[in-house]
Amino acid sequence: MLPRKHSAARVNRLTKFVAHAYRNAPAVRALLDTAGIKPSQIKSPSDLEKIPVTPKDHLIELQLQAPPFGGFLAVPLHQVHQIFQSPGPLYEPWANETNLARVAGKIFKIAGFKRGDIVINTLSYHLVPAGMILQAGLQKVGATIVPTGVGNSELQVKLVRELGVTGYAGTPSFLMLLLQKAEELGVDVRAQWALKRALFTAEPYPPSLRQQFEGHYGFKTTNVYATAELGFLAHDCEAQQGLHFADDVIIQICDPVTGLHVAPNEAGQVVVTTFNETYPLIRFGTGDMAVYLDAPCACGRKTHRLALVGRIGDAVKVRGMFVHPNQLRQAIAKFPAIQRFQAIVTRPNQRDELTLKAGSAMELDRAALDPALNQAVREICRVGLDRLEFVALDELAPDARPIVDARQWE
Ligand SMILES: [Zn+2]
Repeated sequence: MLPRKHSAARVNRLTKFVAHAYRNAPAVRALLDTAGIKPSQIKSPSDLEKIPVTPKDHLIELQLQAPPFGGFLAVPLHQVHQIFQSPGPLYEPWANETNLARVAGKIFKIAGFKRGDIVINTLSYHLVPAGMILQAGLQKVGATIVPTGVGNSELQVKLVRELGVTGYAGTPSFLMLLLQKAEELGVDVRAQWALKRALFTAEPYPPSLRQQFEGHYGFKTTNVYATAELGFLAHDCEAQQGLHFADDVIIQICDPVTGLHVAPNEAGQVVVTTFNETYPLIRFGTGDMAVYLDAPCACGRKTHRLALVGRIGDAVKVRGMFVHPNQLRQAIAKFPAIQRFQAIVTRPNQRDELTLKAGSAMELDRAALDPALNQAVREICRVGLDRLEFVALDELAPDARPIVDARQWE
């Protein structure tokens, strides 16, 4: 799972970037020295695999040991204009970050934002960098920003109309709250608002909300995968199948233990290298699990894609493959007759075995379900079932853990 070709400019840029980080950020120097790697050996994104992953939890520890930035600040402190703190807690230094703004700007452009737009930026501007990340991208496309932040919904409803606001940036749930508030106040949104497009982040964007925003209100909406430490990483498209990688960011889907790439359609951790010269996180382990999708997207874009599956802590490794509860949920959702399930991993004779208990209160056509369910699990989780047990519904608690690791390690 690597970009198909690396342009000379990009390769050169990566080598230069790693050299800059090595020279100026003590944590990056320690990381490479410990691994016995010289910056000149990092010539292409595939060479990055030689550098160990720094998981988010480890970055938190490094910041505690060497406050405030854990040795990752690569510019003099006086060049830092703002310092943010995001949940973790993690400190993020913010200078005039050109790359972060460029990445976000390109995605706002894809989402249809442009010069002449008046946009309410409803993410927080204090403590967390969320509001500033959106602001940087909106400035890049030349939009006029109204930095409303969170809350003040009645005031925001009023100003959306008075200023002729055309764009929204923030969470999907807050836009829904504004729409509900507007209707409470007797505003006919479709007739009286000029709002045309919305960019969402920081929250899941469920299909039911999309249906309302796009179907009922006629907004064009785009959902963005971003993190406080890294900025924008990927965006969805009209095909609604996975997220397209952002430009100018290197995303790798890696085995959480070895740090090496996993094959397409296998679950792994999202590992990111940005070109942020202020705060060069190289091979940062986000803690998010995803699969790399190798099929072309129906929208026609050629960029790489991923599908997020959940957080890393919930995944269990079975015969070398990470299986996330959400992958099992996705497979089982194809069979509405299966109302509850639980997967159990055991290890008789030094081999992992995966058993699935499928609970239902209905009469099931087991002969048909058995192969179909097996196939769905194999397709989505990339691991076959060793046993499938159909059980009565009350044999599984409604809140039964989706995967139980019952292996005894000696
Ligand atoms: Zn697409």
